[in-house]
Amino acid sequence: MAIAQTLTPTSSTVENEGREIPRAMRAAVYRGVDDVRLEEVPVPEIGPGEILVRVHTCGICGTDLKKIASGSHSAPRIFGHETSGVVAKIGEGAGKFNVGERVVMFHHIPCGECYYCRHKTFAQCSTYKKVGCTAGFDASGGGFAEYVRVMDWIVEKGTVRIPDGISFEQACFVEPVNTCIKGIETLRLQAGETVLVIGQGPIGLILATLAKRAGARVITSDLHPARLTIANSFGLNHTIDASKTDAGKAVREMTEGRGADAVILAVGGNGLIRPAMDATRPGGRVLLFAQTVHGESTIDPAAVCVDEKALLGSYSASVEVQEESVRFVMNREMDLERLISHRFPLASGVEALNLAAHPQPDSMKIVIQPGGSGEGQRL
Ligand SMILES: [Zn+2]
Ligand SMILES: [Zn+2]
Repeated sequence: MAIAQTLTPTSSTVENEGREIPRAMRAAVYRGVDDVRLEEVPVPEIGPGEILVRVHTCGICGTDLKKIASGSHSAPRIFGHETSGVVAKIGEGAGKFNVGERVVMFHHIPCGECYYCRHKTFAQCSTYKKVGCTAGFDASGGGFAEYVRVMDWIVEKGTVRIPDGISFEQACFVEPVNTCIKGIETLRLQAGETVLVIGQGPIGLILATLAKRAGARVITSDLHPARLTIANSFGLNHTIDASKTDAGKAVREMTEGRGADAVILAVGGNGLIRPAMDATRPGGRVLLFAQTVHGESTIDPAAVCVDEKALLGSYSASVEVQEESVRFVMNREMDLERLISHRFPLASGVEALNLAAHPQPDSMKIVIQPGGSGEGQRL
């Protein structure tokens, strides 16, 4: 019976695509502030309704880096939540999927029924707050490991099949794209509005592309000309080299002196909040998308009161735009694979996290590929 197979150690001999599921695997384990180590850990056991996924690609997210650098979470943990891979084993009743299918997972899914869900504040739902994917220890995503256990409510509502012809690399952007779509919706853009996107890392590029898709005229700025060249290659043709030009001044010149209708800040830290507000027209909106660290910053209060500029924020994914984010990624509305500048095998996972924490002009999205074995974009 399947039950016995999934719940006893004999499961270690279940075959999938000619591969045995081993008892132990490698994982990049968070051991404390700025301390991640490659370790051998048990392959997670799965229960009824759950699946085990052999990880192919997992993107490194700014929030992973923040957790590692700040010690905001207890150790040990295995992070990584932008995970795509292959179903390696299915638990009793998890009949929605078959061994060998290619999937990508959301690690947070709300219940849809509680008070907060009924009021659409999904991030406050207690089910949403539970992380539903783990490679061991306190559930934390688990994508920086060879295998991930996907819990039942994520199997049910947060696991998406990857269509033929779409790579694991493209698919692993479903969650970051979701967070960006949510951010763009927060701005309620109208067609023809002018949007300045400050910062053209991978997230800034996705936000800029989505703003353009919403009908806005998009201007992008970055300190690194190489990133503006990449922006150009994605059809973002109004670029400002912020190493030479004052972006606020340039935007005012392009908008009859008004400033942008909306400014998106896709660079961390607080130093650019004031310039972002200055680049916004009276009555316009500023979206803080990368200000994930609590602290203090200087703003001009009259810019909010007298000039009626709105300061908005957006964080994390929304189940409400899950289908849209899946369509955007799987229909290749944007060639997201091209945002990946560095691919590391799991053995170099610590190096990958270090590079991601210290971005270089030529580093964009960085992924760890426990299942990639250096085969690049192999489907
Ligand atoms: Zn993420
Ligand atoms: Zn709920």
